[in-house]
Amino acid sequence: MAYEAVWMNDPSKLNKFEFVKMEKDGLDVIRTIIDKYSNEGYDSIPEDDMNRFKWAGVYEQKPRDGHFMMRIRINSGILTSAQARAIASIGRDYGRDLIDVTTRQAIQYHWLRVENLPDIFKRLEEVGLYSFEACGDCPRTIVGNPLAGIDTNELMDTRAIVEEINDFFLLNRDFSNLPRKYKMSISSNIYNNAHAEINDLAYVPATKVIDGQEVIGFHIFVGGGLSAKPHLAKELDMFVRPEDTLKVAVGVTQIFRDYGYREKRHQARLKFLMADWGPEKFKEKLVDIIGEMPSKGESKVAGWNAVYYDGVYPQKQEGLNFIGLNVPVGRTNSDELEQLADIADKYGDGTIRTTMSQNIILAGIPTDKIEEVLQAPILQRLSPKAKPFMSRTVSCTGNEFCNLAVVETKERARRVAEYLDNHVDLDEKIRIHFIGCPNACGQKHIADIGLQGALVKTPEGMVDAFDIAVGGILGPGAMFNQALKGRVKGDDLNDVLVQLIHFYKDGRETGESFHQY
Ligand code: SF4
Repeated sequence: MAYEAVWMNDPSKLNKFEFVKMEKDGLDVIRTIIDKYSNEGYDSIPEDDMNRFKWAGVYEQKPRDGHFMMRIRINSGILTSAQARAIASIGRDYGRDLIDVTTRQAIQYHWLRVENLPDIFKRLEEVGLYSFEACGDCPRTIVGNPLAGIDTNELMDTRAIVEEINDFFLLNRDFSNLPRKYKMSISSNIYNNAHAEINDLAYVPATKVIDGQEVIGFHIFVGGGLSAKPHLAKELDMFVRPEDTLKVAVGVTQIFRDYGYREKRHQARLKFLMADWGPEKFKEKLVDIIGEMPSKGESKVAGWNAVYYDGVYPQKQEGLNFIGLNVPVGRTNSDELEQLADIADKYGDGTIRTTMSQNIILAGIPTDKIEEVLQAPILQRLSPKAKPFMSRTVSCTGNEFCNLAVVETKERARRVAEYLDNHVDLDEKIRIHFIGCPNACGQKHIADIGLQGALVKTPEGMVDAFDIAVGGILGPGAMFNQALKGRVKGDDLNDVLVQLIHFYKDGRETGESFHQY
């Protein structure tokens, strides 16, 4: 181990998975998959290495019958058309054509077999993409501003910063054994379009006058995360110049690695250390490691748009535009992705951008080509003018593929959105998020209406049901949504949501919106 592992000093403070990680680093499983398991097959994989598959970005899917899901990390969600085509062709060859866009701007495959993994790793690497450390107790996909470089609402283009930090941490064995997963967010968009407060470490836009000059940089938030015990990240009193972003990321990650809790896995995220230390102590420790930093400057976060961009918008480049498309519940396929790549090459800047709202953006479209692009057959399904509820519905994977799921989510979410679009007439868009268990991959806590799957006992047996929470919001005044009493059977969800939205519509005051931002 290249660093001094202080947490090893007291083995009584380590949960049993820590010993699995110490015995063999998670990253080592990548070589074992290539050299051994891909040749010897699914039945040859022992339990400990199956748990380490996460470091390769791979999980077993449900039922445990030899199929896997994989996440591909995409920095800031920005793909080239060549990368999109590679993703599409792998999905077609091995993933039954299914391509999911996740709430961390990643691409997720299903139906992979261990025999396929070496070829998939190779084909991804050929286009500069990796699944490695997209899962596991390590620094995962860095989310960012999907509009970086073209955004009229960003203070600076953050693409190079995200790349630098990603390249530092990816496959870095000094940081491949953290207490738990670790998520970073970097955006200079003033509408907080990389959901800063729900990340372990987040950079948001700020300025500060230093030596008489206004410097554009960042404020940082530390210790956010969802799951059963959600925490909003806490802001440190620190201004970070662009050239110091990596140094700060290394310092914060080092604190998590060395002081993060490893005794109970459900209390190991950085948020629990932050809750105990508080932002002042955390900053002191960070300064011990990285040296003095300027105190906070002026925040430039003006609100939160929940990273929705459906429609056509001008870019900062004169005469160019981006088009935000709805991907219903985040699910697309190889053929559709290839059609988008063709449009990106023919009309746009050759990029396809994924958002944390599970949608896609096409960029660099000249104004005189917009009408032509809007007529493309693929934009009739992945529409920039999707109906209100379909355009604002997010869903996690659910029990179609996820071993942790209690209920089915994706198809139900699609049907509920369709029903609401047919039965509710409202002059604002309400964000609805579905999750299939408390792990909250579908980010239920930040939704206007968050729906968490559960089971209820009925005379006919156990049936799918949902807990409902309302009023989640990030940005200034950030708060998680509040639980309503009771639990609603899945089959009653349509009617209950219609009643809930009508209750709001009938009772709202002039100028009031479901989300008060
Ligand atoms: Fe699976 Fe739960 Fe995450 Fe949904 S929220 S994908 S059910 S772990």
